Amino acid sequence: MRRTLIADGSGNLPALETRCAACDGEGRIPNRRDGNRIEYGGHCNACNGGGAVPTEDGKRLLEFLRWNRH
Ligand SMILES: [Zn+2]
Repeated sequence: MRRTLIADGSGNLPALETRCAACDGEGRIPNRRDGNRIEYGGHCNACNGGGAVPTEDGKRLLEFLRWNRH
């Protein structure tokens, strides 16, 4: 199951993650289209396979959480 925190504008939090532009949120890079079948290549390194990348606000929050982890 994919876990993302992509803001849809309904919450009060700033957008913490945004759809990965490199793989269009798939987490894998499409290699080529073969008829109806899309052949996926490797793991997307831009988002580490998660399909989403942190925004600047998200990065700040992640840093904050890291520093405060026991
Ligand atoms: Zn990606």
